Amino acid sequence: MEASATMTRMAGSAGLLDEAQSETASSLISTLTPEQALWLSGYLAGLAGSPPASSNGGEHSGEAGPRVTVLYGTETGNAESVACQFVERAVEEGLQARAVDMADYRTKDLRDEGWLVLISATHGEGDPPEPAAGFFEYLWSRKAPDLEGARFAVLALGDSSYAYYCKAGRDLDERFEELGAQRIADREECDVDFEEASGAWVDALVARLKKEVPVAAPAGVGTGNGNGTAPKIPDAVGGLLQGVGGRASASVLGGGALATAPAKPKYTRRHPYRAEVLENLRLNGRGSDKETHHVELLVEEGELHFEPGDSLGIVPENEEPLVEAVVEALGLSGGEAVTVGGKEWALAEALRRELELTRLTPAFLRSYAEVAQARELKALLSSEDLEALNWYMTCNQVIDVLESYPVEGLQAQVFVEMLRKLQPRLYSIASSAKWMPDQIDLTVAITRTTADGKARNGVASSYLAERRSPGDPLDVYVQRNKSFRMPTDPDAPILMIGPGTGVAPFRAFLQEREEHGASGPTWLFFGERRFREDFLYQTEWQRFLETGVLTRMDVAFSRDQAEKVYVQDRLRDRAADVFEWLEDGAYLYVCGDAQAMAPDVHRTLVDVVREEGSRSNEEAEAYLKELQEERRYQRDVY
Ligand code: NAP
Repeated sequence: MEASATMTRMAGSAGLLDEAQSETASSLISTLTPEQALWLSGYLAGLAGSPPASSNGGEHSGEAGPRVTVLYGTETGNAESVACQFVERAVEEGLQARAVDMADYRTKDLRDEGWLVLISATHGEGDPPEPAAGFFEYLWSRKAPDLEGARFAVLALGDSSYAYYCKAGRDLDERFEELGAQRIADREECDVDFEEASGAWVDALVARLKKEVPVAAPAGVGTGNGNGTAPKIPDAVGGLLQGVGGRASASVLGGGALATAPAKPKYTRRHPYRAEVLENLRLNGRGSDKETHHVELLVEEGELHFEPGDSLGIVPENEEPLVEAVVEALGLSGGEAVTVGGKEWALAEALRRELELTRLTPAFLRSYAEVAQARELKALLSSEDLEALNWYMTCNQVIDVLESYPVEGLQAQVFVEMLRKLQPRLYSIASSAKWMPDQIDLTVAITRTTADGKARNGVASSYLAERRSPGDPLDVYVQRNKSFRMPTDPDAPILMIGPGTGVAPFRAFLQEREEHGASGPTWLFFGERRFREDFLYQTEWQRFLETGVLTRMDVAFSRDQAEKVYVQDRLRDRAADVFEWLEDGAYLYVCGDAQAMAPDVHRTLVDVVREEGSRSNEEAEAYLKELQEERRYQRDVY
């Protein structure tokens, strides 16, 4: 009611809306929840700047005073959510701020920025998030500008179970200093459980900036479109919606598509949704040496919003035999009282539900090496050889360390304080909400060994595939993946490369295309070990081929013949057609193993473009890079 009255008043005084528009808007706004209002405000902000306005790199130094630009590099959306949180807080404090994805940022505007906040995740072996690769490359190129006069601060997000923890953020921090920018605050590094630390950092930095940045008048919600412009929400609309939503919002425009920073999702890692297991089937035939499960989950329609390309976070539990082995290796009973996360637990229960046992972190190794006086471990940790440390961590679990370096009389509380909190695991969603709004499907390969072949189960895959049966609850949340999105044009051709469980999102893609009655050509490359036992979802692909939803399919069964055959061999066999599809505007997607498959497929694509497009190697690389920048070559690799 109050919102409607405000709307009428504002519309009247501003003369922006006629009576009918005012009434329509008022009646819509009076029905909005704060989340919907927040979303709509971002959406309208985007519209206000669309179609992309002419570039205006210096716009921020205009009437509204200095602006803080928050640049974020993200694959999973975490850095984006911190960036949006930062902008919200900054705007609340009267600062002018905007958040822009590094993937969309016009790098030539960098020299004009006065206040920069950089938030970046790290992926793989210390790499920047894939969509931000171009931004990083620019910074380390000869084109990088002199940033003297600019002020900056860096928040690095990472996963401490990797040796190259937070490397992309560390690199940014060093590079901005090298380029002459002056640090506003020390770099902050946040582990996977980042929310508390990043929230405190945001509050502290905003408070600092409030003192240092001359206050803008009027304060503005930043909406970056990647072209250096900051479209403003029309005062009447933006002001009103912020009032209804109770918060300001940030939005970004990128890759030709409007993507508003969404309202905070209802369910998160910390507050997951309780789904129910509907079905849990092994997909491999008898005799297969692989164990890949199809898991169906029942969710209440409308509770979880997900799109093809998104992942589902699973909150797992450690298995009982592993917990028992750890307790035994410590020489304890499991009943000892410990405090974890501010709560009292029996040791065994805390190990099962709260603490990471299957993934090592350098922090755990450091503390344990100290109490165990383990010389070898200490040497590994103090050497510069991060690859050796990484290899050790991928080949061993906590139990291996306890057994290799036993310690007598280690107290339960001391031990639990060394361990990291058990983290959710992500799986690509294998179904479309359009196709089945109250169901989420996953394709889960059970991990039975560590990288060196030692028999050890993975925590989430064994929990999902072996310890969850139909009717059992499962705590989940949706992890958005805006760097793996279907083209908005339903007629655009799509080329999908997904060996093994990498095929999961493509099942969702095809279901979505079927639901939309989309006519764009589709081509799937799938690979597994053996045709008879491991052809995951075979009958479904056949049906898609029959109905025309899937135009072409090529398969590579690696172990059906003496010589290994992989998806990239099929790409090579079909090189002329693959190149023709790319030239016809196809979107290219790769999903699956990050270590070997994705780089091998990339090299093959370079070969295809070089040979079929009569280009040099560098030109072929540049061709693929351009596809990446146009978001026509997207990867989800793990
Ligand atoms: P997957 O192990 O990726 O295997 C699927 C198919 O891809 C198999 O036919 C496999 O052949 C083939 N393949 C192996 N290397 C390849 C390469 N360089 N290029 C193209 N294809 C290749 O299937 P998954 O069941 O999805 O794997 C499950 C999980 O294991 C994933 O998370 C993956 O990242 C991980 N993984 C780990 C390792 C490791 O060493 N730690 C290796 C592979 C996958 P062959 O098996 O006959 O060689």
